[in-house]
Amino acid sequence: MDRSLAKPNLFGLDRAALRALMESMGEPAYRGDQIHLWLYRRRVRAIAEMTDLTKGLRERLAASHDLRWPEVTERGHSRDGTVKYLFRLDDGATVESVYIPEERRRTICISTQAGCPLKCAFCLTGISGYKRNLKTWEILGQVATVMAEAPPEQKAWNVVVMGMGEPLLNYDNTVVALRVMMDPDGFAVAAKKLTLSTVGILPALEKLMKEPVRPNLAISLHAPTKELRRELMPIEERYDIHDVIEAAQRYPIPRGGAVTYEYVLLGGVNDRPAHARALARLLGGGKGKVNLIPLNPAPEIPFAPPTRAAVDEFCRILSEARVPVSVRRPRGQDILAACGQLHLKRGEVPVPAPAVP
Ligand code: SAH
Repeated sequence: MDRSLAKPNLFGLDRAALRALMESMGEPAYRGDQIHLWLYRRRVRAIAEMTDLTKGLRERLAASHDLRWPEVTERGHSRDGTVKYLFRLDDGATVESVYIPEERRRTICISTQAGCPLKCAFCLTGISGYKRNLKTWEILGQVATVMAEAPPEQKAWNVVVMGMGEPLLNYDNTVVALRVMMDPDGFAVAAKKLTLSTVGILPALEKLMKEPVRPNLAISLHAPTKELRRELMPIEERYDIHDVIEAAQRYPIPRGGAVTYEYVLLGGVNDRPAHARALARLLGGGKGKVNLIPLNPAPEIPFAPPTRAAVDEFCRILSEARVPVSVRRPRGQDILAACGQLHLKRGEVPVPAPAVP
């Protein structure tokens, strides 16, 4: 479909924008709240279905606005029940989201950028390049689509902003999307069930701390020292590991929870006992827990997964040092839906990465 002639999308506007839109159309502002409920709580797919608006208003709205979600072009089903969604956006960019059913909960992993500019050495998203920031509706549309297609169950939803891209490099659109997700009259995801993962873009992290509603925080650490982190994550040159941890320790986690430090274990590179001890020293005394992620390999990734014994030993050392630790179970590995395996599709042309603020 030729989207160059498309009308602006109603889906993606937050409460303030919807209220302002109603006033600009000569309606009372509270109609914006009604539309918010239809868009994000009831998640109707057509303006005509918003039955508590007058027919006249629905017609005027439909004349000026579209209501649409991003288009799903592929669904990949893993043996473990994980589903990977591929969305094709208006300009041809593609992004991926993942639905992860679990015993007691279900999780949606969403993307905030098409590709990623950070180029972490072990991550397929970074290796395949960067295209652009996602719009708010493109972020929320991933959540809406996955929720709509999931089997009806009573399990609570978790949303993790851990798909493609660095959310804090797309701050404004991501924060509006987070607000709509956490709104009780929106997607109604509890703040403690929503986690944003970042490498630690410091100015944006400081801003996030001051937002009226904030999600949980996960920090991608991946190394216990500046020297090693710099080799794995170019962003270390810009934002120092110690400054990132200092900021993360001040982050007000919902309901007194603790920040999560993500640590991808790369066989022989950062998975030795000495690394575990250094990590315990680095984090010791502070709040926070470590989530170890054994590398999800791919032919393009120049690292090997850790051995089982190395993972166990790493865990043991952290536990002994009283650093809470868990190991992430890979999900959807067989369909390249696991952490770090989402990437731009063949034939998509990456653009030069923008400057990091
Ligand atoms: N840019 C943000 C959001 C993406 S989160 C961030 O880096 O935090 C994606 C998570 O998966 C990060 O913790 C990332 O480091 C991890 N990851 C990347 N590549 C991986 C791989 N090949 N195997 C396992 N985890 C990986």
